[in-house]
Amino acid sequence: MQFPQALETVLQTLERMRDESVHRPCASRSALDALNRVAPLRENDILEEHAPSCPKNYLGADSAAPSKTDKIEKLAAVQTRVSACIKCPNLASSRTQTVFGVGNPDAEIMFIGEAPGADEDAQGEPFVGRAGQLLTKIIKAMGFAREEVYIANILKCRPDVPAGSFGNRPPTPREMQTCRPYLMEQIDIIKPKVIVALGTVAVEGLLGTRAPMRELRGRWDSVNGTPLMITYHPAYLLRNQSPSEKRKVWEDMMLVLKRLDKLISEKQRNYFL
Ligand code: SF4
Repeated sequence: MQFPQALETVLQTLERMRDESVHRPCASRSALDALNRVAPLRENDILEEHAPSCPKNYLGADSAAPSKTDKIEKLAAVQTRVSACIKCPNLASSRTQTVFGVGNPDAEIMFIGEAPGADEDAQGEPFVGRAGQLLTKIIKAMGFAREEVYIANILKCRPDVPAGSFGNRPPTPREMQTCRPYLMEQIDIIKPKVIVALGTVAVEGLLGTRAPMRELRGRWDSVNGTPLMITYHPAYLLRNQSPSEKRKVWEDMMLVLKRLDKLISEKQRNYFL
């Protein structure tokens, strides 16, 4: 293919992206200058330098985006601080260990729950109990392995419960506010394309909004510019086995897949958790 034809193909592809996607294609100043040298850009430019829709930290195709290794190192540094954190003295003294988060530092999707429970406190990993198994099933139904996404909680320590009592308690607003900065650091490092908030407590921790889940779920919000989908916590689905509730969660997950430009198979469309 001749160079002008190749260039035209690239421009047509960029135009399609501009017209069909919610995100405009972005380019660095030096990339635009290079393009202008070979083919002065048209009126109504396809590419924008640092357009409002470009990620805040966009550095351009010729600049180094954070590598997976960078992300691993940065996450490890935050994890070290978290494991020594005693900002909530009662939780620091009652926890078995902190539960930082698990998964792919380059994940497209981050699932965020409220806080570790007894199982997570014992194993040091979020979502490992029955609710976690259901979350893993949902992730697989979406076409991902659990290791491909990132899973974390608002709180990194299990909320304490009176000695001798069973079960878990939800984190308090103050506890969530105290721990939230660690999660924000995780999000900032991983830079997922979509965040999924699981349950009302996670929504409160992320957005400071308290409302019934029937009013919150199934719609897009955002956390620091990252699209946020709100859905039920898998524990809710374990308590409420109604097919219609399960279907709602699955419909929310299909919205996530669409947002990620993933093909949704017929089997997935008809899937029932
Ligand atoms: S919940 Fe978060 S802020 Fe509180 S002690 Fe644990 S790690 Fe620190």
